[in-house]
Amino acid sequence: MRIQEKAQNFTAADEVRALGIYPYFRPIESDQDTEVIIEGKRVLMMGSNNYLGLTNHPEVKKAAIEAINRYGTGCAGSRFLNGTLRIHLQLEDELAEFIGKEATLLFSTGFQVNQGVISSLVGRDGAVIIDRADHASIIDGCRLSFGKTLKYEHNDMEALDKTLSNLNGTNGLIVSDGVFSMEGDIADLPGIVELAEKYECDIMVDDAHAIGVIGQGGRGTAAHFDLEDRVQLIMGTFSKSLASIGGFIAGDRSTIDFLKHQSRALIFSASPPPASVASARAALRIMKEEPERLERLWDNTRRLWAQLKAINVDIGKSQTPIVPVMIGDDLKTFRVCQRLQEEGIFVNPVVSPAVPLGESLIRLSIMSTHTFEQIDRAVETIDKVLDEFEVERGKKVFDG
Ligand code: PMP
Repeated sequence: MRIQEKAQNFTAADEVRALGIYPYFRPIESDQDTEVIIEGKRVLMMGSNNYLGLTNHPEVKKAAIEAINRYGTGCAGSRFLNGTLRIHLQLEDELAEFIGKEATLLFSTGFQVNQGVISSLVGRDGAVIIDRADHASIIDGCRLSFGKTLKYEHNDMEALDKTLSNLNGTNGLIVSDGVFSMEGDIADLPGIVELAEKYECDIMVDDAHAIGVIGQGGRGTAAHFDLEDRVQLIMGTFSKSLASIGGFIAGDRSTIDFLKHQSRALIFSASPPPASVASARAALRIMKEEPERLERLWDNTRRLWAQLKAINVDIGKSQTPIVPVMIGDDLKTFRVCQRLQEEGIFVNPVVSPAVPLGESLIRLSIMSTHTFEQIDRAVETIDKVLDEFEVERGKKVFDG
């Protein structure tokens, strides 16, 4: 089939557009605060990963502008050749110290970190073992690796044990999200560490949603469980708490040096631009200097959990500021989303295949800068809209 024909046969998006409930690519016309303007209307943002509310921070913006003035707007090359600036190295050092690893390496996005690290570390003689709910970028990293990919049921240590017992001496790299991006639950890292040590495997944790959210000072999942020394690799992204774009991998010096010379996503792609690097540095500094931001994020998270419980909404396995609300089928989820936006609340729909058919949900995410009044307003509106669409309450979202 020719490409255009294939594209024309894809009608799913048009069908949802025709119903007037298409929920994607909604353009924001204002600064990205707890309230934003969409189609000229002010809506409460309950769907951003800007957990610490730093995307709109004056010092973060100032740092970005200063970096542009000093270094220019782009890097015109990869880290490997002409695209390494002094601020890349400064941020790498600051992150290594923050995460508690010997070294880190910056990539242009978090997606590229997973893609570029897994594919270069797991060769023909190796295997990568992943949680079924891991992020798409981890899956793509596995697809690009020449090793075997083995999946285990979500956060199920018995299943992981069984999978690892079949490795028969093959080198294994276990890769798990630290905080799972849709369900908001935390990986059973103590269980993973125990099994990794039993079967002599390495561990890589994706802390995209954990940095700035869990662990002492927002240091992520290994810090949360006090297991920093028993996890070999930690990846993070700047696109959430760190108010920018870009990502990093942290590990021992030799592994980082290997990646510097082997990872194609690093070597053959331009490095993150000065403004992005400077914003991430400023966000990291503010995060360290203002621990009350993290406390506030957790106060807000507990407020949201309590308010949802009070209206009998089951939040599934959420243990973090990512909170799912079960809706049911895909179309109903789009309708609820659209209605919530009309009522002034922005949320994200999560439909199949990201979740099993019939288990579509809206994903709420809390920011440190939300007020209790905003959270209460969001829950009140959700209560009204769930009634309007006769959404069943108190139903468990995930049982695994
Ligand atoms: N890992 C996880 C768990 C994510 O949620 C995301 C982003 N949604 C990424 C990796 C990719 O990060 P980035 O946005 O920096 O490409």
